[in-house]
Amino acid sequence: MPAVRLLPTEDAQDLIDLTREICAKDLAPQVDEMERAAEFPRDAFRLLGKTGLLSLPYPEEYGGGGQPYEVYLQVVEEIATVWMSVAVGVSVHSLTCYPVASWATVAQREALLPGMLGGDQLGAYCLSEPMSGSDVGSMTTRATLEPSGDAYRIRGTKAWISHAGHADFYTSFVRTSDDGSRGLSCFVVPADAAGIEFAPAERKMGLASDTVRQVVFDGTPVDADRRVGEEGQGMAIALAALDSGRLGIAAAATGLAQAALDAATAYAKEREQFGRPIGDFQGIAFMLADMEAAVTSARATYLHAARLRDAGRAFSTQAAVAKLVCTDNAMRVTTDAIQVLGGAGYTQDFPLERYFREAKVTQIFEGTNQIQRLVISRQLLKNT
Ligand SMILES: Cc1cc2nc3c(=O)[nH]c(=O)nc-3n(C[C@H](O)[C@H](O)[C@H](O)COP(=O)(O)OP(=O)(O)OC[C@H]3O[C@@H](n4cnc5c(N)ncnc54)[C@H](O)[C@@H]3O)c2cc1C
Repeated sequence: MPAVRLLPTEDAQDLIDLTREICAKDLAPQVDEMERAAEFPRDAFRLLGKTGLLSLPYPEEYGGGGQPYEVYLQVVEEIATVWMSVAVGVSVHSLTCYPVASWATVAQREALLPGMLGGDQLGAYCLSEPMSGSDVGSMTTRATLEPSGDAYRIRGTKAWISHAGHADFYTSFVRTSDDGSRGLSCFVVPADAAGIEFAPAERKMGLASDTVRQVVFDGTPVDADRRVGEEGQGMAIALAALDSGRLGIAAAATGLAQAALDAATAYAKEREQFGRPIGDFQGIAFMLADMEAAVTSARATYLHAARLRDAGRAFSTQAAVAKLVCTDNAMRVTTDAIQVLGGAGYTQDFPLERYFREAKVTQIFEGTNQIQRLVISRQLLKNT
């Protein structure tokens, strides 16, 4: 059942309608096969780019959609009801554009943003490393300024990079000094720069179409004017980007949970045992009611954070709350949805087992849910 949405404008309703149409006509027919084959859906991103759905929350003057975050996130949620890897990819692309849109000079914005937002390009976000996951400040990949002062050379390995090998640019956080988390800087590395290598794709539990690889920078030269912000501002930029990015994951997790609820509800109406549809049994009906409550409250939670962001208010803690609530709810709803289907839910004849595997990663990436609890509790307990 399509989610009931209160949208701020008619434009926003048109965007939701367009998204639903693309989902039904273009994405739904290929998702099963593409996920089974672990194929990267580059054409799907091209289509979303062509229709303007890939860069909705960025300024129109640079080629973005000029939409509030609350609208952009609901589009991500709609995509996730059909294809989680694509919804996550839209969120990742948005994350990769954020540093330039919010921290770059006007000259850098004019040079880089029209391409990044134009629909043809896709970005990757290089923060994690093999030995630096939650502890971002311990990263060792390093950019060294050339004696000429015109360019840096980057050396080191980034891990778990979504879109690696398919992306057109790599928004990368690397060390420019030994000053701990104050020694990081942000660079936008073009995919055709020399000395970029990719490890084989990770063999993941789910989200198969989201290709994830290590990216090895082997003395990769990057022009100095592709450094975004000052040297040492990298950590602040990365964390600010993640505040917004986490809302994309929260919205995607909500769409995934909605899809699981819809599939479970339809099955409960059809499947009969003891001479009645299983939905007639309170044990099943109440499980569905709890799932509906989880999805609806997840949506309200991410929309609250988004509306704070749109109003220019502080939203970092609410973004962490939204990521935590929406992804934990998605895990619970997808688990219960399998239970509603019984044995059928445990087979690949239904998409529930895929939803369950996809839900798990939402509790892990863009800051594990332990890290979200850390962000929330630190805010609660800090001395004012
Ligand atoms: C499918 C997928 C796609 C990804 N895409 C990207 C991407 O595009 N770009 C990118 O940069 N990264 C990406 N990541 C990496 C992801 O962000 C990290 O996996 C995540 O941040 C956790 O880091 P880690 O795996 O090293 O776990 P670790 O940091 O080693 O954590 C292991 C466990 O310890 C817990 N833990 C760690 N520190 C604390 C603490 N202080 N308090 C309590 N518990 C703690 C964690 O919660 C976790 O349960 C992706 C990961 C996956 C699985």
